Amino acid sequence: MDAVTLRRFFHRHAEVGFTEFRTAGKTVELLQSFGYQVSYGKDAIDESSRRGLPDDGQLEEAYQRALRDGADPDIAQRMRGGFTGVVAVLKGKQEGPTVAFRFDMDALPIQESSDSDHVPHTNGFRSIYDGSMHACAHDAHTAIGLDFAKRMASRSFSGTLKLIFQPAEEGGRGAYAMAQKGVVDDVDKLICFHLGLGVPVGTVYGGSTGWLNVTKYLAHFHGYAAHSGLSPEQGRHALLGAASALLHIHAIPRFGKSDTRVNVGKLEGGSSSNIVPGYAKMLLETRATVEEVNAELERRVRNIIKTSAEMYELDYEIEITGGAKSIRCDEELVSVALQAASNVEAIRAAEPIFTASAGEDACFLTERVQNLGGLATYMIIGSDIPYPHHNEKFDIDEAALPIAVELLENIAALTLNPS
Ligand SMILES: [Zn+2]
Ligand SMILES: [Zn+2]
Repeated sequence: MDAVTLRRFFHRHAEVGFTEFRTAGKTVELLQSFGYQVSYGKDAIDESSRRGLPDDGQLEEAYQRALRDGADPDIAQRMRGGFTGVVAVLKGKQEGPTVAFRFDMDALPIQESSDSDHVPHTNGFRSIYDGSMHACAHDAHTAIGLDFAKRMASRSFSGTLKLIFQPAEEGGRGAYAMAQKGVVDDVDKLICFHLGLGVPVGTVYGGSTGWLNVTKYLAHFHGYAAHSGLSPEQGRHALLGAASALLHIHAIPRFGKSDTRVNVGKLEGGSSSNIVPGYAKMLLETRATVEEVNAELERRVRNIIKTSAEMYELDYEIEITGGAKSIRCDEELVSVALQAASNVEAIRAAEPIFTASAGEDACFLTERVQNLGGLATYMIIGSDIPYPHHNEKFDIDEAALPIAVELLENIAALTLNPS
């Protein structure tokens, strides 16, 4: 199967973070068939470092669905419960460095469009899973990784090629758990990339900057439910405490030394007009270009939630459900990427550094590699997109796929050669 066919397969089977049983299962099957040594399940992901895990019911439902749709039961079994990370290793003929490439596999909780101008719909590969959609091109990332893997299996090189397929990039969750497992601890060079982001097909950036520090929170407010007519004074109004926190979180000032964002994206509580709400929950996030400023935002958010809860005599808990940090790209690897790009005919423009203003959880892998003395970069590979990332009509230009595969092959040729 070529990259386009694979991408369409993954697009149809769009699975959200930590439920990628069909996607990761297929990935394991193919990598094994190419001759890679593959570890997955609990061997590839640290159980207690998984953040923002779906509840047991959702995990099991997605697992059963993958089995019904043809997942290999022995492989899927080892991923059951949300262990959907995959690491593949191929050793070269001689000793040499360990070079790793990272691909993310998860979809988003979006109902995919069935409009007549939405290509995945008109071409019959719209998501078959209600409410899940590949709207960030991770279907293509996985497909590129597998096509690249197949080609590398017949190449001769020195050193070790390592391919990391991670779950749950959205929400900043999966890479952290794989980094904590130590999957990149032996890596000398790590190459990550994203398709799209407004960059046209034929243009490539060898590195990127401006990735935001992000923290995602789930706050629980516990009050006491009571009859709103008979005895409202006996109640403790959880929704009022949460609503008060919401207003004050959005009133945190901007910072002079960093771009910042705060957003309460979901507030939920209560059940009926005649009941004082006994429980409320809030989903929110903070972002900043400067890491220390995001830490200060977190301190203020915690203080606001604490004092709002106290004002209404509520108990509260705050869970961190995900996050990301900024990414630093090493110049040496950026140059390698640009040199590799210059040998791909379809790449018309190769630029050094793209400025992103999103969050990307590959930061936990790049940081770990760099802390241990290795090098890392995060490239952007152009692909025209008719609608923005995370939109229900998002799509990519599939012409980017063979370009990406060839670029990765060239990077491998430059980094996995005898020294
Ligand atoms: Zn995304
Ligand atoms: Zn993405």
